[in-house]
Amino acid sequence: MPSLTRTEAVARAALLRVDAVDVDLDLDRGDELFGSRTTIRFGCRAPGSATFVDLRPRALHAVALNGTPLDPASLADGRLELADLLADNVLEVEATMAYSHDGQGLHRSVDPADGEHYVYGHLFLDAAPTVFACFDQPDLKAPYSVAVSAPAAWTVLGNGAATVVAPGRTELATTLPLATYFVTVCAGPYASVRAEHDGIPLGVHARRSLAPYLHEQAEHLLETTRACFDHYHRLFGIRYPFGEYHQVFVPEFNAGAMENPGCVTFRDTMIFRGAATPDQVISRSGTIAHEMAHMWFGDLVTMTWWDDLWLNESFAEYMAYRTIVEVTEFTDAWVEFGIIRKLWGYAAERAPSTHPVAGAPAPDALSALGNFDGISYAKGASVIRQLIAYIGDEAFVAGVVQHLRSHAYGNGDLVQFLAAMESASGRSLAAWSRAWLETAGADRLAVDDGVLTRTPPATHPADRPHRLDVAAFANGRELARVEVVVEGERTPVPGIVSTPVGGLVVPNAGDLTWAEVSLDPATVAALPAGMADLPDPQARTVLWVALLGAVHRAEIDPRIALDVFAEAWPHETSSAVLSRTALAMTSRVVPLFLPRGEQQAALDRVAGAADELLRRAPWVEGARGDALAVVGARVWAASGCEVDRLLRWAAGDGIPTVLEGDDDFRWIVLRRLASLNALSESEIEIAAAADRSLAGSLAALGVRAVRPTAAAKEWAWSALHDDTQLSNYGALAVAGGFWMAPDPELVRPYVDKVGDLVVTLSARMGDDAVSRVVAAIHPTRLVDDATAESSAALLQRDDLTPGVRRALVDAGHELGEALASRRRYDGGRS
Ligand SMILES: [Zn+2]
Repeated sequence: MPSLTRTEAVARAALLRVDAVDVDLDLDRGDELFGSRTTIRFGCRAPGSATFVDLRPRALHAVALNGTPLDPASLADGRLELADLLADNVLEVEATMAYSHDGQGLHRSVDPADGEHYVYGHLFLDAAPTVFACFDQPDLKAPYSVAVSAPAAWTVLGNGAATVVAPGRTELATTLPLATYFVTVCAGPYASVRAEHDGIPLGVHARRSLAPYLHEQAEHLLETTRACFDHYHRLFGIRYPFGEYHQVFVPEFNAGAMENPGCVTFRDTMIFRGAATPDQVISRSGTIAHEMAHMWFGDLVTMTWWDDLWLNESFAEYMAYRTIVEVTEFTDAWVEFGIIRKLWGYAAERAPSTHPVAGAPAPDALSALGNFDGISYAKGASVIRQLIAYIGDEAFVAGVVQHLRSHAYGNGDLVQFLAAMESASGRSLAAWSRAWLETAGADRLAVDDGVLTRTPPATHPADRPHRLDVAAFANGRELARVEVVVEGERTPVPGIVSTPVGGLVVPNAGDLTWAEVSLDPATVAALPAGMADLPDPQARTVLWVALLGAVHRAEIDPRIALDVFAEAWPHETSSAVLSRTALAMTSRVVPLFLPRGEQQAALDRVAGAADELLRRAPWVEGARGDALAVVGARVWAASGCEVDRLLRWAAGDGIPTVLEGDDDFRWIVLRRLASLNALSESEIEIAAAADRSLAGSLAALGVRAVRPTAAAKEWAWSALHDDTQLSNYGALAVAGGFWMAPDPELVRPYVDKVGDLVVTLSARMGDDAVSRVVAAIHPTRLVDDATAESSAALLQRDDLTPGVRRALVDAGHELGEALASRRRYDGGRS
């Protein structure tokens, strides 16, 4: 199916004006198919000319243009030609559509907990034609009037306020002009909590089986929502325009959330059914704030074409953290941003697929999807922080408001955004934009002898100005902090002439800029002892990110990272830093960067650190102590090797009180037991029967896949290959466990079969879903030259979609990083 090209979109936008779209969906026709009738009223600026409408039905029954029937058989490649257009036209389409099971389009799933069915629409990026006929491009906005027939017991939600007009029949109020990819319908026996704030009707919704948790957590969700509305109203001076505001937590959602105006969808793992650490709650609150920022930036003003998608995401990502810090209890949310989001972004910057924040070419809609990554979010938000440092916050906010007012209910692009910023600040931003937005890569910053050196990457040279600070610490105290404006390659840092004995010098200590930080040798040597009592959590995240980045670049021995972890981690207080660095150890540093012969001892040190944290947690009061206990227990359960203790924990004995009855924690323990081959099939069956929730079913799939037996690996591989019932989440759960094997020979026979599996999955899943699964299917854990060769050979195939190819290239690159590190520090031993 060809993806809409930019050239086609420009031509169609020049020709057409869409006045109104009526959509009527029948969701009461069984599990596989639904009915779809569309009426599009549209104007044509050159009567007599032709265009095409986008439509990907299972069956097309009837089409009429201005009352004249068209031949449904003329539909080809998802396009139907419309000729002899009048100045004003009416297109009527009646079709049968198919539900999806990959989170793209109208996704339908069955909740294993109670057998109830749920439907939600996720039309980003180009799935709208699988739900209704449309001109599917972001700059042909129109008001939508949607009506839905569904089982009478279902709740139906969408962009406009819902009115039940008859049993099983809901009409959604006509919307303000929306881009096609924002239209959604959520339907099913959702549990709901409704409220109101400042005249805006609010609702939070989740599957009925999650109702107890939704009711428990609704007030926190709504409190965050209210605070964000007040904040954005004050900041932008433009009221939220889209009527009601519903937040629907839906199953098997690929992204974190989607900013459909009036009806935002979230992945429903954000409704916590067990313990949640502060970083999990910050992340959820940040997502709420992020989607709300989109109501203005993205929804009210939408990018003209997909190449400016970054503008939406960078802005919303930045605005979310700024807002969370200002209006919630999470005043340290930038720490979470630093350790979780920026670690993701710097990895994207190291990968072959790195690209400029803006101006990455998107010749067609699908190629834009690939650029929707850690660069668009984490780097983009960091660059906006640098823009604010450059022009001042007042000018930034004024520029944003001007941009929103100029293009409300329409579209804008980078040139127009920068013009608004230039007019508000009175400064030219052409050179700044070239360096920061239009050139890929991160500068390298190092401080030596009182001078900060900035080294641009050789492959992406640019003259980036930075505003940042440098700090020196020793003996648990901050000795000095210097703010610097970096304009050339060498900038004096007065006050930080040398690294104090046993102390640490931290370039970019406040984490204000986007750069790779090189630590000086004295600081690296002092890290294992000095990290623990460093008093500034933001500086600790900068050090962790620098250290892990250097491991990936083969500039620091991974054993040093392990030493720092063993020494400092049990004393860390931020749950974000604790969780994310432990994940880096157990999923990257130990299995990829250390030789196999050292991995067990290294894992024992990780488990030892987790035990130390567990011993410390009861001495820390209240929720903070609970959070430490939760992280300590989760990390020990994922890395410990004492089967007896794991069995006791699985039975609920000896675990921290806060984790009692926590099914998700129990599955972490069971997964570890299974990976140690200490869990029988019947024990897995008993556990699965005791937890028939969606989360439990997915966890059981993962547990079955990690078992280190030939039979288990064979089962997992054939499930991925043949089980067409495996949803996007199911496939991810199986793939995520497959390569876990203490003996590499167990999984080696599958390395050369990866390509065929990937293509099979690609045939039944969209690129967004499949590229996530592909990253897990790549044999990155088998770190040797033979795997690297197989990985490179995969790319010779000509049957890979762009998203799959990109995921394979990036996974292969990470394998290459591990090999380079082993060559440097172990003489290539595997
Ligand atoms: Zn977003």
